[in-house]
Amino acid sequence: MSPHILLVEDESDLVQTLRYRLEKEGYQVSASLTGQGGLDLAQGPERPDLILLDLMLPDLPGTEVCRQLRAEKETRSIPVIMLTAKGDEIDRVVGFEVGADDYMAKPFSMRELLLRIRAILRRSKGRKASPGKPTSRAFGPIKMDEAGRQVWIEGEEVVLTMIEFNLLLHFVNNKGQVQTRDELLAQVWGYREGVSSRTVDTHVKRLRAKIGVAGVFIETLRGVGYRFRRQPPGQKATP
Ligand code: CA
Repeated sequence: MSPHILLVEDESDLVQTLRYRLEKEGYQVSASLTGQGGLDLAQGPERPDLILLDLMLPDLPGTEVCRQLRAEKETRSIPVIMLTAKGDEIDRVVGFEVGADDYMAKPFSMRELLLRIRAILRRSKGRKASPGKPTSRAFGPIKMDEAGRQVWIEGEEVVLTMIEFNLLLHFVNNKGQVQTRDELLAQVWGYREGVSSRTVDTHVKRLRAKIGVAGVFIETLRGVGYRFRRQPPGQKATP
């Protein structure tokens, strides 16, 4: 079945253009001009595989819609790409803080948007682990269940977005290795070009905050990228 994309956008011209292009790509498209309508559709029987969410909506801000999507079990792992005004850095950070997976500034290139949609859908499809394969991981205070997309820190469940989960999984699977921002963009986001490395920094910052005591394992290498420590800082390497 073709992936279902939900548009939550109040500019009807843009909705029309997006719908036309997305349907041409073979996606199934639904749309709402309001935030509440978008939430109702996302929580309805035809759950979307991805949501394009405008930041400025007539009834609710896009950030609030995103917050509510993340709060519900049924919708919390649906990837969200936020659409907002050009160069609005503050909105971008806020968008990531409430759990958006990506961000596109208007006016955006349709080609770039389609590339990102494809990359995100590929990533979210790839996350469904094959049956019978052990998919849980434990490292220090972290426990992860790949199939169930769940994470516990010291036994307490922490709710992560799709990108945050993939990022943490990638870190845990590549302990001790230096990860440049470009490598992370390629491995975790599935992007090959044209994305700001600030996207990586913002997500790492948010992941670190969410995983609490385990955040110390994520080491920032100034000017290079990140590394997931094998031991907590200050502890000698065990032979
Ligand atoms: Ca708008």
